[in-house]
Amino acid sequence: MAADVFGRTLNYLRVSLTDRCNLRCIYCMPEQMNFKPREALLQTNELFLLTRLFAELGFSKFRLTGGEPTVRRDIVEIVRHAAQLPGVREVSMTTNGLRLKTLAEPLAEAGLKRVNISLDSPDPKQFREITRQGNISKVWQGIEAAERAGLTPIKLNAVIIRGCNDDMITDLAKLTLIHPWQVRFIELMPLGEMAPFAQHYLVSEHEMRKRIAAQYIPLEPLNDGNLDGEARLYRFPGALGTVGFISSVSQPFYASCNRIRLTADGVLRLCLLQDQEVDLLSPLRAGASQEELSQMIIEALRRKPWGHNLHHNVVPVSRMMSQIGG
Ligand code: SAM
Ligand code: SF4
Repeated sequence: MAADVFGRTLNYLRVSLTDRCNLRCIYCMPEQMNFKPREALLQTNELFLLTRLFAELGFSKFRLTGGEPTVRRDIVEIVRHAAQLPGVREVSMTTNGLRLKTLAEPLAEAGLKRVNISLDSPDPKQFREITRQGNISKVWQGIEAAERAGLTPIKLNAVIIRGCNDDMITDLAKLTLIHPWQVRFIELMPLGEMAPFAQHYLVSEHEMRKRIAAQYIPLEPLNDGNLDGEARLYRFPGALGTVGFISSVSQPFYASCNRIRLTADGVLRLCLLQDQEVDLLSPLRAGASQEELSQMIIEALRRKPWGHNLHHNVVPVSRMMSQIGG
């Protein structure tokens, strides 16, 4: 089992498959985004090799993300490979859902267990404004297709932006009254050139819950208020689903962090909100053996930082969220 110097077991790998996307969410990337050339990204065989090494090191949970993971042509093949790795218990995906109408079934058949789908607003006009070009009806179709294919429980991710979609917090939370979904509010995180935007428009978990209580009724805590993964969970009395908050900015979760990120350009990102990284692609392409690569990974994992330093105004500058995967 891989572990860091703090004794945290690391067994959850988030793999970004591309920095490209079929949307341009206003908090995630600039409108004129420069994407990396394809040859700078992990090719299918390189991805297969690195994910196998992680599985051999005891990583049992993989999440595929991006950019938008479903824009990769080999996405079904990648899922099939990851799901068949010895010791891997769960392969899941974070997606904007646009391509799930056609992909949900083949992805489930290839071994995908669950999907988290981003939905920042139920209002079509607002959704288009936030994503700059998205058609919300495709997301609803994607959610339906994911449910039909058994990619459940469905989790919906919503990033709340002050003055933009903060009037939809309660409507989003109320979706859980009649759907068995987990609607998760993610606090805006400052990353790269989008950092000033995030700092300016952040709405904290505390404020979101206060607004829900004022506009509808208070949410009741689940799990005695303890974290479930990265989210703190709540429920409306009698609701079919749950409401989660991922409050990485206002209430970071360090002690339970068991995750590590592999970016689409083959770099290990040791903490989402810190710039410490270890390049694996260059040594791989320079001919490092599998033993050497495994050793590099083990040593990198040991150096995983305890947590971020946003409270000391240290903001990660090297990448935007779309270049890490969330
Ligand atoms: N394209 C996919 C999607 O949108 O679900 C996967 C990649 S996206 C980078 C992963 C998650 O990060 C999404 O839920 C997105 O809303 C979230 N995200 C992007 N930028 C963010 C930011 N600055 N702060 C907080 N969450 C962010
Ligand atoms: Fe694309 Fe996801 Fe970023 Fe939106 S949040 S631009 S869908 S990568």
